[in-house]
Amino acid sequence: MPATKIVATLGPASSTPEVLQRMIRAGVDVVRLNFSHGKAQDHIERAALVREAAKAVGKEVAIMADLQGPKIRVGKFEGGKTIIEPGQKFILDGATTELGNNERVGLDYKELPRDVRPGDTLLLNDGLLKLTVDAVKGAEVHTTVVIGGELSNNKGINKAGGGLTAPALTGKDMEDIKTAMSFQCEYLAVSFPKNATDMEMARQLANVAGEPYRHKPALIAKIERSEAIPVLESIIKASDGIMVARGDLAVEVGNAAVPALQKRMIKMARELDRVVITATQMMESMIVNPVPTRAEVSDVANAVLDGTDAVMLSAETAAGKYPVETVEMMANICVEAENAEEISLDASFTDKKFGRIDQSIAMGALFTAHHLGCKAIVALTESGSTALWMSRHKIHVPIFGLTSQVGSQRRMCLYRNVRPLLMSSHSDRDEALKHAESMLVEAGVLKPGDTYAITCGEPMGYPGGTNMLKVCLVG
Ligand code: PGA
Ligand code: MN
Repeated sequence: MPATKIVATLGPASSTPEVLQRMIRAGVDVVRLNFSHGKAQDHIERAALVREAAKAVGKEVAIMADLQGPKIRVGKFEGGKTIIEPGQKFILDGATTELGNNERVGLDYKELPRDVRPGDTLLLNDGLLKLTVDAVKGAEVHTTVVIGGELSNNKGINKAGGGLTAPALTGKDMEDIKTAMSFQCEYLAVSFPKNATDMEMARQLANVAGEPYRHKPALIAKIERSEAIPVLESIIKASDGIMVARGDLAVEVGNAAVPALQKRMIKMARELDRVVITATQMMESMIVNPVPTRAEVSDVANAVLDGTDAVMLSAETAAGKYPVETVEMMANICVEAENAEEISLDASFTDKKFGRIDQSIAMGALFTAHHLGCKAIVALTESGSTALWMSRHKIHVPIFGLTSQVGSQRRMCLYRNVRPLLMSSHSDRDEALKHAESMLVEAGVLKPGDTYAITCGEPMGYPGGTNMLKVCLVG
């Protein structure tokens, strides 16, 4: 299995126990439930399906609930779609409730006329169609089609350069947060956050909704808006991780700006001890083809080399013809890219200041294991944070996060190079160390003669209590 994690979106193509189990076996670590599709009950059932499939396979996976956010969309059409031609006029009408046609269509997002001015460029259907705004007349946005094509029901609208005022959390999102907390998703992804406040608000709502279950999810900020870029650092700090949401981001900032932004985001997230997922169109052609394009293979490999924690599949696993094959292929690409990577704990590692005991121990373990050529690093961790810190630096030694909390185990599923394992809790340190070693020997990770580094906290069982590093030789 690769060190890089795989996030797969659940959908009609992957919602049977059989397919889902095969996908998990093939390497899926996190299952994404896309709240842009389906009703609350569908998601509840799908979450149960994920938990059951994981159990059947004997491998924990995390669930990521991905909120729809203020997806700005056109309404519906007579016959479901229309064709618009370059040069023709087309009206986006915030007031109509009629079905659309070749001349005009209604809007899900009624505020659009307030957010645009003549000269603005609107991009529809992930940027495939392009309109220029000529005038705003009341609730009507009058445009000229620059790039035409087919436009069907509820396709998304983006404004080039950003500037749509829609708040990140809609009323629907607030309801969906409650649904997601009812099945205690480990990760909650927030779409289109503009700033740190959006993330703080989402966290507050999630924590309140999670209270009856004593559950606090980790929050992922989807970076897909122009406005998010200048305030990236504060958004990352307000979140537990980010998603390089290249679909919407590319439409807002322009395709060509995305690769450099991806590298910057991955680097920044890791430096701030946050996780990062690279998403959208990674294996797009495998929606219909049994093999990916060369460009897709390179894209996945490059995201791995950039240092992403996870690569994500969207329609490939939700609605594609080859959900299992896509995961298998992606896992292979990750493994090869990782093997090709040269590791040397870089200067930034030794220059960094670590003020916390637990974090310093984590870094000490990494340094020691790297230089001694240990077979494994083992972190006995309550919250998973020791494993997270260790995983922020590239190293070829696998990290095993052993925890007695199933929630921590699942959360660690997203951390690059971390293998989460569930272990019964111990109050005696030596017993815990012995138990950990025997687990890893049984799992085939360690054999007699191997050395490994292990960290724990004494007294045992307190989150943030890691204060000890031991290097052991398997007898
Ligand atoms: P979406 O987000 O698939 O929910 O739109 C990801 C992206 O925009 O890339
Ligand atoms: Mn998006």
